[in-house]
Amino acid sequence: MPGYPGGGIRTFEQLADRCIRTDNGCLIWRGAKNNCGTPQAWYPTLGRVLTVSSIAYHLMHGKRPPSNLRYVAICGEPNCMVHRKLKTVSEILTGTRTAVHTAKLNRINREMRAKLTQEAVIEIRASEEKGRALAKKYGVSETTISRVRLGTGWKSIAIPGSSIFNLGG
Ligand SMILES: [Zn+2]
Repeated sequence: MPGYPGGGIRTFEQLADRCIRTDNGCLIWRGAKNNCGTPQAWYPTLGRVLTVSSIAYHLMHGKRPPSNLRYVAICGEPNCMVHRKLKTVSEILTGTRTAVHTAKLNRINREMRAKLTQEAVIEIRASEEKGRALAKKYGVSETTISRVRLGTGWKSIAIPGSSIFNLGG
């Protein structure tokens, strides 16, 4: 098979030979990839080229991943061939959105709680200094300063038990 030296992958050991093993137990593919950057190899058992994750699945389960599911990396290493799980497309999309959204909200909430007292919020709203100067003064981002000033951003972020978000906003 041109472009796929070594006669393809017949065993999990041959697959592992083309990976780097990390301290976390990841097996990260270092062999050929297709135009989209997806690991791909010749799989003599089925007589065709497959994504390496499909080959890994086939070697472990004796069949290809169900066509309605994706066999995706769950360890944060997209090219890891051992830490994988079958997921539906909607599970993948929901998981991504929720994780990013939650992380962002948590960061904003932490920043506001940690660094802005009620007095600071009043001062910021009364101040005529530029956003950048205020951000530096209070050790928060300029985005946070504009949220405080406009009041708009504060209403959309529910923080139970917090009072600073109700100030005239
Ligand atoms: Zn991994």
